[in-house]
Amino acid sequence: MKIYNTLNNRKEEFVPINEGKVGMYVCGPTVYNLIHIGNARPMIVFDTVRRYFEYKGYEVNYVSNFTDVDDKIIKAANEEGVDASEISERYIKECKQDMEHMNVRPATTHPKATEEIDGMIDLIQTLIDKGFAYEVNGTVYYRVKAFQGYGKLSGKNIEDMEAGHRDLLVDGESEKEDGLDFVLWKPKKEGEPFWKSPWGDGRPGWHTECSVMSRKYIGETLDIHAGGEDLIFPHHENEIAQSEAANGVKFANYWMHNAFLNIDNRKMSKSLGNFFTVRDIEKKFPLQILRFFMLSVHYRSPLNFSDTLVQSAANGLDRILTAVERLDEILGKVDKNTELKAEEEQVVKDIDSFVAKYEEAMEDDFNTADAIAAIFELVKLANVSVNESSSYALVKKAYDTIVKLLDVLGINAKREEESLDSKVQELIDQRQEARKNKDFAKADEIRDQLLAMGIELKDTREGVKWKRI
Ligand SMILES: [Zn+2]
Repeated sequence: MKIYNTLNNRKEEFVPINEGKVGMYVCGPTVYNLIHIGNARPMIVFDTVRRYFEYKGYEVNYVSNFTDVDDKIIKAANEEGVDASEISERYIKECKQDMEHMNVRPATTHPKATEEIDGMIDLIQTLIDKGFAYEVNGTVYYRVKAFQGYGKLSGKNIEDMEAGHRDLLVDGESEKEDGLDFVLWKPKKEGEPFWKSPWGDGRPGWHTECSVMSRKYIGETLDIHAGGEDLIFPHHENEIAQSEAANGVKFANYWMHNAFLNIDNRKMSKSLGNFFTVRDIEKKFPLQILRFFMLSVHYRSPLNFSDTLVQSAANGLDRILTAVERLDEILGKVDKNTELKAEEEQVVKDIDSFVAKYEEAMEDDFNTADAIAAIFELVKLANVSVNESSSYALVKKAYDTIVKLLDVLGINAKREEESLDSKVQELIDQRQEARKNKDFAKADEIRDQLLAMGIELKDTREGVKWKRI
């Protein structure tokens, strides 16, 4: 299996540290708002990478953090007049809902920055003890020039970075030994959350958390560290500087970065009015379509998002799901005892060759675009060569293969049933919540809404049951 490693700017054969296992860390979102579709891309891409490793029999330890202390969270909290923790908890919950609807599986561990402060203080202390960090007036800085190899991930060299920095060194920063040095710990300001530390009350800098959480939940050296390409500098460069200085070993063997996302060929930004949350998109398309659309482009290519392109992905997915439905129907009709016929052997060989093509694409740096093309070929073959006079063995083979390959991409082959189930369950949960709050008008309204969808509720001693009417 080949992975494009940003560290060496080339595709490299994947060799795990421990045979059959993958330790993978993916930088997660800062939770101050609903996630936008730019956040969704790494979630979908790296969930697919994980699924493919699992398909190949690897045991994957997948760790992805929530940054739940940050200037943006504090700003949002002050605007609403609530605690920062209320903002972060709310948006972690919302983010998990979006992930679920995008069929992004929960990580093995989802650590939160605020629950790992002790570990961050330990890391900072180690860096001070080893001469890689220093404290001035309650702020701790990382001494960039003390670390040999700063810039190796981003390909930047110290001299160029310095030239860019010299004139930026203005008030407040003048206490730094060097313009390149970055903050590991900052003193508290009025109205901000803070923790006690040997350097006074304050909070950690952003880069610190990923170094600490990845080591705690995976180990000193990761197989794969991943994230959006916008994180390469300074975030990932600084993570390397912190981790390698503290641990004395290589931080990550493979660095994977997904490319950015444009909207109608323009950068997504609030000021251009083309900023979309995942929730905005869900109003127009089921998120399964968003997922399929995102995977229809290789993760290292820029992704252009437009309604037309998403619609065309939706049509493509529909073609696949229709073929699966047809095979499912045929399965219900053919005699289960019919074995493969001699003339069907070539079709089986063709199916296997498309599976090989799919795997070859995925093993070439997770080329999901080509993997999807192989699924389309498989669908075409099934539409032409599998019918009600086929043997059960052949129909089952075609059906199982397509469903399996879709599942590795995180695409559910069953169109409506599943999504209806989760939609119904969500409404039932909302109704229970309304009843708990004695908002009976709302509870009745939800019951009527379900009735309009053809769903009847029954309150039983074991809870709420529902059936189609
Ligand atoms: Zn990170």
